[in-house]
Amino acid sequence: MDVKTKDFVSGSKAAILDPQIQEALAKLRNGLGRGPRLASEELTPPVWQDMRQRASDIKTHTIANLDYYLEKLSDNVEKAGGHVHFARDAKEASDIVLDIARKRDVELVIKGKSMVSEELEINDHLESIGIESVETDLGEYILQLMNEPPFHIIAPAIHKSRRQVSEIFTEKLKTLPSDEVEQLCETARETLREKFLNADMGITGVNFAVAETGTIALVTNEGNGRMCTSLPKVHIALMGMEKILPRLEDLALFLGVLPRSATGQRISSYVTCVTGPRRSTDEDGPEEFHLVIVDNGRSKILADEQMREALNCIRCGACLNACPIYGKVGGHAYGWVYSGPIGAIVTPMLTGTVEAKHLPFASTLCGACKDACPVKIDIPHMLLRLRQEITQGGTLAKNGKAPWYEAALMKGWRQSVRGSRVFSLANRLGRLALLPLSRNGKVRRLPPPLSGWTRFRDFPLPSAKPFRERWRKGLKDE
Ligand code: SF4
Repeated sequence: MDVKTKDFVSGSKAAILDPQIQEALAKLRNGLGRGPRLASEELTPPVWQDMRQRASDIKTHTIANLDYYLEKLSDNVEKAGGHVHFARDAKEASDIVLDIARKRDVELVIKGKSMVSEELEINDHLESIGIESVETDLGEYILQLMNEPPFHIIAPAIHKSRRQVSEIFTEKLKTLPSDEVEQLCETARETLREKFLNADMGITGVNFAVAETGTIALVTNEGNGRMCTSLPKVHIALMGMEKILPRLEDLALFLGVLPRSATGQRISSYVTCVTGPRRSTDEDGPEEFHLVIVDNGRSKILADEQMREALNCIRCGACLNACPIYGKVGGHAYGWVYSGPIGAIVTPMLTGTVEAKHLPFASTLCGACKDACPVKIDIPHMLLRLRQEITQGGTLAKNGKAPWYEAALMKGWRQSVRGSRVFSLANRLGRLALLPLSRNGKVRRLPPPLSGWTRFRDFPLPSAKPFRERWRKGLKDE
């Protein structure tokens, strides 16, 4: 499979036909996918629902007043001795990072996991000027060696088998093959330890930035974020401009909400809070701290009142685990940094690319993502809004209107669901038309242009006795 494909249709077809991806996705459903449910079930429902509501209210308030909180954050980071940079787009953000690296004669960078840095493709930019940049999150490190993008927001290499990891370590690190997870982790630890000790600059993402104190918070399970922020002489934190919380006490709430939704933990193994560079009384920490606040299309989302809620996202990945589409096609099919239901919204909005126009349709609209989301983002509503824009030839469509037969089908559907008689008639006619193509109540192959429906699954023949008739009869029989 071409893991860097930008096209959802070909990417998803390839993923469906890849047995290893399918096996990994089945494990994800039963593993990571169950964790958040179990963690939230341990709280009585009103407590968890109250946490979700408070988290949602705080994010909605913050995003509605983003200019105020960004200024406050910037002032407080500078008061603590840090430097703040605002970047309008990925290029500006990369240039800021490269400029700092050049001024400090940086040769080796260690990096924590950061989705914004994926947006900037910062590793490629650093390497283009001769600076080695090493991912230190184990999953990201494996993918860097394999030259692949992340497959999942919080578990980037979840689709890789032990054998594949062993093979890439043998090839790139010249170690002996091993089937033991402990041995593979030890290999990565030993290699990365050297990099941590010799790095000139650390780059991390930001899980939350607290405006009140100018503090950035990172949650990790490997402790690598802590090493990136404290060992090198320069620390650069990259954040999307929406990653902001007003007060320190809000952080306490989100430190409970994020890990429960992401991995099913009550709290992450490591929580690192950084307020400015090292002070004279500190035992460790960087001499310089830079916070790069990245827009890269977010202002456009902010300006759209119906889509603004997407900026409430705390990148927990719960909607990916709940989504039946992600559960079948995985992360690479989405073609950019963000995948799953939230990717289907932010990718078309942030990139505006023609290829991304398929993403809002990659949903059954079942609402599982909304139920799973710890900040209660109404993802299905936003998907519908994007669909509307695309089918009506809006800016995203770029002349990509629905084909005539699809438009005609939808028109027919709209007419038929308006009244129960017409609906009943349409149901019967549909059954009659499909009967010759069916076997055992299933249509295996629909003719073009509907053949896409049956390429990977059967189409059920409309029932001879529709549900409504059975329901009415059942009521009469009672
Ligand atoms: S949309 Fe909600 S569930 Fe999905 S990643 Fe963002 S916060 Fe998590």
